[in-house]
Amino acid sequence: MAKVVFLGTGASTAAPVINCRCKTCASDSRYNKRLRPSILIQKNRKNILVDVGPDFRIQAIKHKINKLDVFILTHAHFDHMAGLDDLRIYNRIQHKPIRCYLLKETFREVKVKYDHFFTRNLQHHTQGAKFDFHIVDNKKSSFKFDDITFEYFSYFQDSKKVLGIRVDNFAYLTDIKKYDDKIFDQLENLDILVVSCLRFKATDVHFNLKEAEAFIKKVNPKKAYLTHLGHEIEHFSTSKKLSKNTSLAYDGLELNF
Ligand SMILES: [Zn+2]
Ligand SMILES: [Zn+2]
Repeated sequence: MAKVVFLGTGASTAAPVINCRCKTCASDSRYNKRLRPSILIQKNRKNILVDVGPDFRIQAIKHKINKLDVFILTHAHFDHMAGLDDLRIYNRIQHKPIRCYLLKETFREVKVKYDHFFTRNLQHHTQGAKFDFHIVDNKKSSFKFDDITFEYFSYFQDSKKVLGIRVDNFAYLTDIKKYDDKIFDQLENLDILVVSCLRFKATDVHFNLKEAEAFIKKVNPKKAYLTHLGHEIEHFSTSKKLSKNTSLAYDGLELNF
């Protein structure tokens, strides 16, 4: 038995968006308040974090994430990685580097954007977080941590390669736009599929609702959840339009699998 907690289900500007008065942003409902996208998987008493956006500190306090066993970084965009420095708290708590899995393309970007993780610069008063980086590549399709098997696959958001993961019958694919049909081989017999969906109108870098629903139809999971939701997607009015096995995820949603 495992559990997933949605720490954030918003897009890169979250919701409410600064200075926006749209129906979603003006809403008082918790279902329309979305932090940057991230999930926590809990299995065998292990905490597995997928992505660490700029809202991570608030998310970690709210959900009492007091330890971190595995961190998976899907790709090197601000809304998924801006909280990297905050992970150094877990170095202090656990007295060891954080085990991090990522694609080699992502690792290359981390090295440039977060060079203070890799160089010792005494002029910096704060030391960078310490990671134990594990690069995942196309030669394999899974890795193991402890007794947990993670299956992984990649796809593209425009030209950027993004990592998707599967644990048991749960799969999480965020920031997907282009993919090879062989991805479906690893998405068979899913109980829960989580896929990103930015808005109704088409964009070059994200699924819109139509594309997300077409993808879900091909995968045919028992249940699908949409995340990485832009403020164009108002929770209640959009929920009515979705197909029967599909729901909008929301911050704080917890699912067992
Ligand atoms: Zn808005
Ligand atoms: Zn994103």
